[in-house]
Amino acid sequence: MFDVQKVRADFPILSQKVNGKPLVYFDNGATSQKPQVVIDAISKYYSEINANIHRGVHTLSQLATDAYEVSRNTIQNHLNAKYNHEIIFTSGTTFGINLVANGFASLLKAGDEVMVSALEHHSNIVPWQFLCEKTGAKLVVIPMNEKGELVISEFDNLLSEKTKIITVNHISNALGTVNPIEYIIKKAHGVGAAVLIDGAQATPHLRPDVQALNCDFYVFSGHKVCGPTGVGVLYGKEEWLRKLPPYQGGGEMIAEVTFEKTTYADLPHKFEAGTPNISGGIVLGTAIDYMNSIGFDNIVAYEQELLEYGTKRLQEIEGLTIYGTSENKASVISFNIEGIHPYDIGTIIDKLGIAVRTGHHCAQPIMNFFNIPGTIRASFAFYNTKEEIDIFVEAVKKAQMMLS
Ligand code: PMP
Repeated sequence: MFDVQKVRADFPILSQKVNGKPLVYFDNGATSQKPQVVIDAISKYYSEINANIHRGVHTLSQLATDAYEVSRNTIQNHLNAKYNHEIIFTSGTTFGINLVANGFASLLKAGDEVMVSALEHHSNIVPWQFLCEKTGAKLVVIPMNEKGELVISEFDNLLSEKTKIITVNHISNALGTVNPIEYIIKKAHGVGAAVLIDGAQATPHLRPDVQALNCDFYVFSGHKVCGPTGVGVLYGKEEWLRKLPPYQGGGEMIAEVTFEKTTYADLPHKFEAGTPNISGGIVLGTAIDYMNSIGFDNIVAYEQELLEYGTKRLQEIEGLTIYGTSENKASVISFNIEGIHPYDIGTIIDKLGIAVRTGHHCAQPIMNFFNIPGTIRASFAFYNTKEEIDIFVEAVKKAQMMLS
């Protein structure tokens, strides 16, 4: 039996008051809260083993290096990657996508096609536009429908031998749609295209198996899975990581440097130039262990209950429209109330201690599709409760009364 009160006790921030009211934190899509074990692990790193990694002969450096590499193994196991050198530490999803997009510049030529989806976050659009500008490749977009789902028949039509890489999110941050990535990956490989999955919004809710998915790249951010900010992961299939050139030059990523020619270190170091976020990398392993101790089966089952309850309760409100009505959805509810700007609702309910995201959620093409300036987004995590949803719904009703 999933005991949410026991889980909540792990998160010190959740017992805080904000603006004099108990905090209701429904902005988990932006970043998750951190359990005490993660907070303690950061402190423990700096109190006990802080040193630079991979280069020192001294004891602390070796302890820090070991902890960093243990965390890489934890992440390898978590994603079911074949090799631990397929796990590249990054600063987050954005960095991982830029690394791959930048690398593809050496592989593409004018006339090639890069496929993105209509449901992407800006960080999975703009780096590919840079790539197309650099190479003369064309950006092709898989369209979406009114339910906020990708139109897969159109994907089939757009896919061709010209398609070199497809980049799509596992779960949409703005609408919560779970995309049919298994199908996309299979079809893409049929024409020899690589596939990058943006797992920023999926990793808080499920445990991806990169070998079963057979994706070529999978990226995510630590801060959305109960870990610290400033650290993330790029998984890449060994063959692809060998094919791509390094992203940044510097220390750690070289085998030998002379002024005439530099050779690069082997994987994963080829993509890890400079001193990394050492504590972040180590503590991300702690966060992943914590999520697994809760259990992703428990997480998804409970969050689906919250989604169902929240959807039902919000639908009581007159003039409320929910965007993203796919049957395959994570615990995200994006909505508007007729005649009211999302920002105004967000501001009023903040005064009542409730944190939601308002605006375009870094996904302006989705907002343009629905012809709206933005939405109010409530995104639930496994530490939220139905009681919090009740408080939220009453607050939204109050805001609606005040504003209409
Ligand atoms: N992709 C998606 C789907 C996201 O939700 C986010 C974060 N909101 C990002 C990419 C970017 O992640 P980060 O800012 O952690 O690099």
